[in-house]
Amino acid sequence: MEIVNNRYTIQGLDLLDVVNEFGGPLYVYDAAKIGQQIENMKAAFPDMKLKIKFACKSLTNISILKLIRAQGAELDTVSIQEVQLGLKAGFEPEEILFTPNCVSIDEIKEAVKLGVMINIDNISILEQFGNEYHDTVPICIRLNPHIMAGGNSKISTGHIDSKFGISIFQLRHLDRVIQRNKLNVIGLHMHSGSDILDAEVFLRGAEVLFEAAMDFPNLKFIDFGSGFKVAYREGDVTTDLQELGVKLSKAFKDFCNNYGRDLEIWFEPGKYIVSEAGYFLVKTNVIKTTPASVFVGVESGLNHMIRPMMYDSYHDMVNISNINGTQRIYTIVGYICETDTFGVDRKLSEVHEGDIIAIKNAGAYGFMMASNYNSRLRPAEVLIIDGEAKLIRKRETLEDLYKNQVEIEIS
Ligand SMILES: *Cc1c(COP(=O)(O)O)cnc(C)c1O
Repeated sequence: MEIVNNRYTIQGLDLLDVVNEFGGPLYVYDAAKIGQQIENMKAAFPDMKLKIKFACKSLTNISILKLIRAQGAELDTVSIQEVQLGLKAGFEPEEILFTPNCVSIDEIKEAVKLGVMINIDNISILEQFGNEYHDTVPICIRLNPHIMAGGNSKISTGHIDSKFGISIFQLRHLDRVIQRNKLNVIGLHMHSGSDILDAEVFLRGAEVLFEAAMDFPNLKFIDFGSGFKVAYREGDVTTDLQELGVKLSKAFKDFCNNYGRDLEIWFEPGKYIVSEAGYFLVKTNVIKTTPASVFVGVESGLNHMIRPMMYDSYHDMVNISNINGTQRIYTIVGYICETDTFGVDRKLSEVHEGDIIAIKNAGAYGFMMASNYNSRLRPAEVLIIDGEAKLIRKRETLEDLYKNQVEIEIS
C-alpha cells in the first residue's frame, strides 16, 4: 500500500474505489507483494537446492494458491482438506507435503492415496504407518529439537511441553520402529514455531537436525519449517533473511559434505509470504466517546479477524478515508458481543463515521480464522493482480447460515 496523490493505493488502484466496488468488510491481497516475498527467499539461498513449501493454512484461497504455484513455490498442508485444495489449485501431489498433528491414521492413508509426501510427527502413527506400508511409501519425520522460538508461548512449538514432533530424545525408539518396519525416511523436518527472532535459533535447530540426520542414510531433503518474522509495526525486528541465507547455507553445505550427498533444503513460510500482502478494510460504524476512551466501532470484529484478540498480535492501522487529518488517539473495537479490540490507543488521522480503516498484516491467518460467530457473514476477498482488482471469494449470504441446518418439527 502506498500513498499516491493523497490516496492509499495498491498497484495504482485507489483502495477506496476497491471497497466501493466490492463492498466491505473486505480482505484485499497484493499479488506483487506475494511474488516479491517468494523472490526474496530464493535470493537468500541462491546456490542451494531450495524448495519453498508455502504453509497454506495461513491463506488457502485457491486463486492465491495458483498464484503461489506460478511463482515457483510448493505447498505445506496440515489437513486432508488443504491437500485437496492444493490439488484443486493445480499442484502435483509430489509438490505437496502433508504435516498433520494428531490426525487419525485413516486421514494419513487418504493422503497416501492422493500421492503426497507424508510428514509423521508421532511414534504411534509411525508404527501404524509401518504396519501398513513398510518401505513402499517414503516418508518425512518431524522432529522436535526443543529449541525455543521467541515470542508468545501460544506460537512456540519446539519446547518441551509442545505436542508437535517426535522428541529428539526419542531417537533411539524412533530408530527401533524404523528398522523393524523397514521404513524409508527421505526427509527430516522441524518447525520450532512462529516468530523466530534471529538466525541463531535456526542454526541451533539445524545443528540438532544435522546430528540426527547422520543416522538416516536415505535422506533427500531437510525441512526447516518456518518462523520467519515479518514486521507488524514500524521498527519491529524481522528475520534477516540475507544473514540466515549466508549462515545456514554454509552450515548446510558443511553438513552435506559430511553426509556425502547434496540434499535439498526446504522451508515452509506462511506469514512471510502473505502477511504483509493482505489488508483488511472495515468501515467505521460509530465513534463512541466514554469517560476513558474514544472508541472507533467498526463493521467487523473477532468473527473476521481474531489474531489481535487471540494472540495479542499488533496490527498497524490507517484511516484511508482521511489521509491528512489531525492525529487523534482511538481504541478500535468490533461489533461482536465480546471484547473484541483490534487496537488500543492508536493514533489515527481523525476518524469520522463511515471512514474506512485499513488493518495491515491481514494476509496470514486473517480470513482463514474467520467464523460466523454472532451469525455474521464472512467477508469477501479480492486479489489485486496486474493492476486489476479481482474478486476471489464472494461475501457470504444469509443462505450460507441456513445451508447445513436441519430444521426438525418441534411441537
Ligand atoms: C503454521 C506452520 C508453518 C507456517 O508458520 P508461519 O509462522 O506462518 O510462517 C510452517 N510449518 C508448519 C508445520 C506449520 O504448522
